[in-house]
Amino acid sequence: MNSGPMIEVENLTKRYGRHTAVNNVSFTVARGEIVGLLGPNGAGKSTIMRVLACFLPATEGTARVAGLDVFHAADAVRRRIGYMPENNPLYPDMRVREYLKFRARLKGLDVPRSRERVDVVTEQCGLADVAQRIIGTLSKGYRQRVGLADALVHEPDLIILDEPTIGLDPHQIRAVRQLIKDLARKHTVLISSHILPEIELTCQRVIILYQGRVLAADSTADLQSRLGRNGEVVAEVAAPADELRRCWEAMDTVEHAEVIPVKDGYCRCTLVPRAGVDLRPVVFQTVVDRGWSLRELSHSPATLEDIFVRVTRPDREEDLF
Ligand code: ATP
Repeated sequence: MNSGPMIEVENLTKRYGRHTAVNNVSFTVARGEIVGLLGPNGAGKSTIMRVLACFLPATEGTARVAGLDVFHAADAVRRRIGYMPENNPLYPDMRVREYLKFRARLKGLDVPRSRERVDVVTEQCGLADVAQRIIGTLSKGYRQRVGLADALVHEPDLIILDEPTIGLDPHQIRAVRQLIKDLARKHTVLISSHILPEIELTCQRVIILYQGRVLAADSTADLQSRLGRNGEVVAEVAAPADELRRCWEAMDTVEHAEVIPVKDGYCRCTLVPRAGVDLRPVVFQTVVDRGWSLRELSHSPATLEDIFVRVTRPDREEDLF
């Protein structure tokens, strides 16, 4: 068995007519990783997934799954991939179990094996109670589970899920998210989403796409330390508001300061640092040097959302990448 990365995408470009949807994208995904493709609408997430799932040829560049070229070895690649497209198309007139068996047979499983695997995925995806129901009568959440069961039925090495929780209610989102986490123990998973908390909660690593290009690819923690501000610092200090404002604004490391008088002679100072700076030590030292009283000093680390907004901002600083 090939022991290299599960996904290798090299200089991949996809054009639709004159529109470049994916522009010279390269990334790899190791076996067993859960990786999120994150980007706003139209960033190229679905296009990359469709190329990997052999649904769409690339214009330029290469993509390999388990060492196999998606273009030249499409049949072998398809056997290794479970793909759940966006707005997963199902056969609404079929019963759940009947549909999954049909799909298993289409994917090359013989009758006994397909029966066995349908039992497993029905259980795994929480579909036992609805196995005899007509798909068209199921709720969106259950239909999404049928889509997942379909993607899993042939025991693929790699699962590609395009916006798996879109349109689901919060309970259904939790259930599907847990299911994806459980899958990760045995499979490699690539998930697309434009919902940041989704990716943050489910994925170990994130690839941020914008207008067909990769802007950043790293673990959430590394992205935070590399691209994130170290987060806002909130300090409640007993001192005159004007004096505090002057003090924070004079600091090179403070990009923005907001000072609001609160109770008992204190002011609540919200300080936004310049990139990569942790303001807490300097705030603490300043307060001590000036003989002020401090009753709160807290820090909120940058979220994936902060990073995303920062890297996809039209006037972003090129040197960040
Ligand atoms: P979303 O989150 O909205 O699904 P996405 O990141 O998945 O977006 P894609 O669906 O890959 O983005 O689309 C990337 C770009 O390519 C978009 O500008 C889209 O309009 C365009 N595009 C996608 N499919 C086609 C097509 N079949 N023909 C022409 N243009 C297309």
